[in-house]
Amino acid sequence: MAPMTNAARIIAVANQKGGVGKTTTTINLGAALAELGQSVLLIDLDPQGNASTGLGIGPQMRAVTTYDFLAGDATPDEAIQPTTVPRLSIIPATTDLSSADIELISNEKRSFLLHDALRQLPMDRFGFDYILIDCPPSLNILTVNAMVAAHSVIVPLQSEFFALEGLSQLMLTIREVRQTANTSLRIAGVVLTMYDRRNNLSQQVEADARENLGALVFTTVIPRNVRLSEAPSFAMPALTYDSQSAGSQAYRQLARELMAKDNPQLQKVS
Ligand code: ADP
Ligand code: MG
Repeated sequence: MAPMTNAARIIAVANQKGGVGKTTTTINLGAALAELGQSVLLIDLDPQGNASTGLGIGPQMRAVTTYDFLAGDATPDEAIQPTTVPRLSIIPATTDLSSADIELISNEKRSFLLHDALRQLPMDRFGFDYILIDCPPSLNILTVNAMVAAHSVIVPLQSEFFALEGLSQLMLTIREVRQTANTSLRIAGVVLTMYDRRNNLSQQVEADARENLGALVFTTVIPRNVRLSEAPSFAMPALTYDSQSAGSQAYRQLARELMAKDNPQLQKVS
């Protein structure tokens, strides 16, 4: 099978903790990359479908879902939908994407479902620059699928107490995938989310993260910003809902930092 998406950077946004900012990061980083002219596909890999809802893909618009795409029951044409954001597309999710449903697929290549589905994207029509995968809050077969399919992982870290707890388990899973199914999997970076500059705890978590993880931590931090939490109920990214908000600006900066990391030429000029 020809690797049809070798031009696309495939990034899993993962952390087994819920509520740390995975979906917010996937939506707004995706929107920011699209704004910078990148063609972006967002894959909703959480049965809760929050990324789908947050981008205005309501339940009635989810006749074809990530599950159908993984199971080989839908072509990319059927599965990929445009969003209101130019250059940002999505494959939406519903509860049929529970890990139990995936376990039912009798297939020894169960961990490779997303990998294989993505490698079959016809690049001439789907020339994505970035594919962002919004993972569920678990280290289950779905998250493993994301890590097997991805070039790298972005780890959102909530700037709260116990933030670094559980990180070793996540790193262990990444190492296991690297030793078996995906030897070149990298960590694109850890991004501090819901950061509050006036809060000692946020500063402490940041200091701990930078001390323990060094250059893995993105320079950009995402502030706690009410616009980021309001935007999904208006079915749009914060970048559309309030373009100049602190949250929108932070995700733009994160997108530029990510692109610079991916492209050493850009790094020289920025
Ligand atoms: P996850 O996908 O990891 O479960 P979410 O992205 O859904 O996490 O975020 C959890 C909650 O926190 C949501 O209500 C979201 O709107 C809110 N949230 C996320 N990031 C921020 C932020 N930087 N500032 C304020 N609220 C945020
Ligand atoms: Mg989520």
